[in-house]
Amino acid sequence: MDDEPTTDDLTVAPETTAILAGRSGNGPALAPVVWASSTFESATVAEGRRMATSTSADRFYSRYGNPTVNAFEEAVAELEGAEGARAFASGMGAVTAVVLGLCSSGSHVVTQRQLYAGTQMLFQAVCPRFGIDVTFVDGTDPEAWEAAVRPGATTLLFAETPANPRLDLVDLDRLAAVKGPMKVVDSTFATPLGQRPLDHGVDLSLHSATKAIGGHNDVTLGVVAGSRELLDWIWGFAVLQGANAAPYDAAGGIRGLRTLGVRLRQQGATAAALAEVLEADERVTEVRYPFSPSHPQYELARRQMRLGGGLLTFELAGGLEEGSRFVESTKICRLATSLGGPETLVTHPASTTHVNLLPEELADAGITPATVRMSLGLEDTDDVVADVRRALDAAFA
Ligand SMILES: *Cc1c(COP(=O)(O)O)cnc(C)c1O
Repeated sequence: MDDEPTTDDLTVAPETTAILAGRSGNGPALAPVVWASSTFESATVAEGRRMATSTSADRFYSRYGNPTVNAFEEAVAELEGAEGARAFASGMGAVTAVVLGLCSSGSHVVTQRQLYAGTQMLFQAVCPRFGIDVTFVDGTDPEAWEAAVRPGATTLLFAETPANPRLDLVDLDRLAAVKGPMKVVDSTFATPLGQRPLDHGVDLSLHSATKAIGGHNDVTLGVVAGSRELLDWIWGFAVLQGANAAPYDAAGGIRGLRTLGVRLRQQGATAAALAEVLEADERVTEVRYPFSPSHPQYELARRQMRLGGGLLTFELAGGLEEGSRFVESTKICRLATSLGGPETLVTHPASTTHVNLLPEELADAGITPATVRMSLGLEDTDDVVADVRRALDAAFA
């Protein structure tokens, strides 16, 4: 809309853009307006025809597009520096739309061994059924991506950085430089404020907005940002796939974006403080935090990420017993999957998110029975650190 405030003529920080963006169709309301309607009336046949065939139509039928969902998409596109974005009912809705929307029987995909478990299952169990061949490489090795490409056959490189659960990084410049296939990055752990894959030349940046973008554990939402051309292609599949974002969740996504900057600041501060404490504790053998100098890809993290993020993964000096006792002994931190919300969450990947993996796949992903992943929340930093110290005492009592 013409009279919407825009940031086009201002130079502002991304944290400010996150608050200014996504307001078209909102009238004078400052909070996101929920357009709950599943259908919209057309003034004329010509108007109806335009709406039924346009990839950016938001007033025809909500599986095609919806004003609240479009506002969320606009906000993410602006933050990612993209021409556009398309929202989905979940992160996996976005992942499947990208993979099945862009690949066909006979396509070849290169992805990494370090992946969100749902994405891994899609590549391992679903893609082969549709004749899509998938090669898994070590995502931290830039040469491996290039080496796995089959000229003429590889359609897609699918990366995740930082990757679940050990926060391994993919070099975005090197990934983007691979010639031929389209490049997609699952940027969920970084958030749109933490890194911008498209600036490096990657084609699509994708998020589970269920996580930090939604930010309050009350929405299930996904989004993919990129060029108009690619999004139009994905739209053709997505409208039939039917994993479109609900307007209520999209409104939750807009609200989440508006507080993302300040939440990430707190979560990042607690993560960094906790990393320091854990590194000094002999009951912990390894600490993984992208902005800790001990991270094996620290230089890369500093080069391609604006923020270190709110996730931290570490290895206890022990096995299953210590790992289980630790995650069951915290009182402030809660034992739950997911990330990016107000509550600090502890997860035990070997028994939860990655429980379906075979022992050698666990080893490939660098997960042991003593691996603990934490998503730092918004509690007072000292309280979280004290809770972790207490749980360490209990685990090793
Ligand atoms: C959670 C997550 C997904 C899947 O998102 P859903 O919203 O749960 O479908 C994909 N990638 C990463 C990195 C995730 O953390």
